[in-house]
Amino acid sequence: MNRPYRIVMIGKQGAGKGTQCSKLAASLGLAHISTGDILRGAVKVGTEFGLLANDYMERGDLVPDDVILGIVEDRLDQPDCRDIGFVLDGFPRTLAQATALDEILHPDGVKLVINLDVPTDVVLDRLSSRRVCTGCGRTYSIYKPPSSNWTCDDCAHEVIQRADDTPEAISRRLAIYDEVTSPLIAWYQEKGKLVTIAGDGDFNAVAIEIAHLVERAQ
Ligand code: ADP
Ligand code: ZN
Repeated sequence: MNRPYRIVMIGKQGAGKGTQCSKLAASLGLAHISTGDILRGAVKVGTEFGLLANDYMERGDLVPDDVILGIVEDRLDQPDCRDIGFVLDGFPRTLAQATALDEILHPDGVKLVINLDVPTDVVLDRLSSRRVCTGCGRTYSIYKPPSSNWTCDDCAHEVIQRADDTPEAISRRLAIYDEVTSPLIAWYQEKGKLVTIAGDGDFNAVAIEIAHLVERAQ
């Protein structure tokens, strides 16, 4: 793919977007822009905007478009995104966000949208068993915990369940995905930018498929 890379990863909660985006970004030197991580960072630091976002996030609701758009627009304007490129993880999630992204990147828009497709029963199990590191964000699960006492193998911070990985918030998030986010699949398909891949196979096999897709989408 010619620089700058402009990739969007779309998929249900628990599809593995975060892990796959990290790997892709590391291998190509791209900016990995996760709006969820940016928001959780703001909540942790306790900024005014973090406090506002926290209520929405704990319920599993989307944070209002104007808040998210301000953050993303600033980030995409940084030199690394302009010169080398980015992979967006968790954005856009509404038609309004997708339209705004097109305007920010006018005239070319994004180059490739990868739809990481995983059946709902699989993501439900992944989300309810998921545990995350409070320091670096690395994901574990109750089936694959860190080697010692819920302390991260990489950074030694505590590994916990996310506040929005409760059954109520999980079902709310998945319902919002179906209703508000999944229409983006047809929208990007019509623009000829979408490729769907099965995300429930072996992690490394999925990563290799993504790397090939990106290479081919020059
Ligand atoms: P998940 O995809 O598992 O819900 P994320 O870490 O991507 O997790 O996002 C966590 C929360 O942050 C979302 O439930 C939502 O409240 C908020 N959020 C993240 N990205 C967006 C976005 N593009 N638009 C609105 N809210 C967002
Ligand atoms: Zn960690």
